[in-house]
Amino acid sequence: MRRTLAVAALAAVAVVACPACGKGKDAAQGAQGFESPAPPFNADAAFALLKQQVAFGPRVPGTPGHQLQLDWMVKYLRQRADTVILQSFTTVAPNGDTLHLTNVFARFKPANADHVLLLAHWDTRPTADNETNLALKRQPILGANDGASGVAVLMQLADDLKRHSPPLGVDLLFVDGEDYTGDMYLGSEEFAAKFAPTYHPLYGVLLDMVGDQNPSYPVEPSSQQYAPEVVQRVYDMAEKLGLGQYFPRSPGIEIQDDHIPLNKAGIHTVDLIDFAYGPDGVSNEYWHTLQDTVAHCSPAGLAAVARVVGALIYTGG
Ligand SMILES: [Zn+2]
Repeated sequence: MRRTLAVAALAAVAVVACPACGKGKDAAQGAQGFESPAPPFNADAAFALLKQQVAFGPRVPGTPGHQLQLDWMVKYLRQRADTVILQSFTTVAPNGDTLHLTNVFARFKPANADHVLLLAHWDTRPTADNETNLALKRQPILGANDGASGVAVLMQLADDLKRHSPPLGVDLLFVDGEDYTGDMYLGSEEFAAKFAPTYHPLYGVLLDMVGDQNPSYPVEPSSQQYAPEVVQRVYDMAEKLGLGQYFPRSPGIEIQDDHIPLNKAGIHTVDLIDFAYGPDGVSNEYWHTLQDTVAHCSPAGLAAVARVVGALIYTGG
């Protein structure tokens, strides 16, 4: 993904008072006595899934790591989902490279009238563009956060969905070719072109860069523009769960990401993204560098987004 504009105002990482905290309630119980009907999310298991992806090496289209990750995801999802659809396609990137890409679409209760769509990109960027050293700039990133984090949450949720049947259909979409060069979103564009005419989920939630050590997901402005009702639903749920400190309602930086092709195709989708991936929770200095590593990630953000989307799913959307 990339920033749309040179937005000067970095969203302050405001720590919103948590109404439940002062009363000494368990963290699993949110404000207003609301308890999520979702099974408890195992953030450590999700973090292990993040590490496994990084262990494959960079997941750049056309490389061994990309193929290893695809085989691993498909095997894991086929053991859990009701249906796994592979959407393979070949495209020529603007730089002339021919890319063989695959979206993985794992469906739970596909016959249900209502569905929710959750998605993340599984490929990683071929070049560390934000390195200043020209030699390092040419190397591929590991994508512990930018790639593996969203996938880790969705895969762990797949495990929960297998063991605890949801009250509606849930579709997990792992898109390829998000980060090849520039703002291309090849997988989400392909999905939108082929599926959107006949596929109408209630809404979509995109998870991108959800694994850093200072989680904060302010409202992404194009999500607010295209899908205000979904933004409200997500941020209301975060507040009910007592997770408002991770989901400030202040506007964040506008991001071009996989939610744009889906929104343009009529699938109202919000982008939950923490675009402050750095040592202080404010700067974004690890993004698209060789510092996008497991050491700069943590299970906390994975848990925060998983608890919100889990609660939405198990309350019926
Ligand atoms: Zn990226």
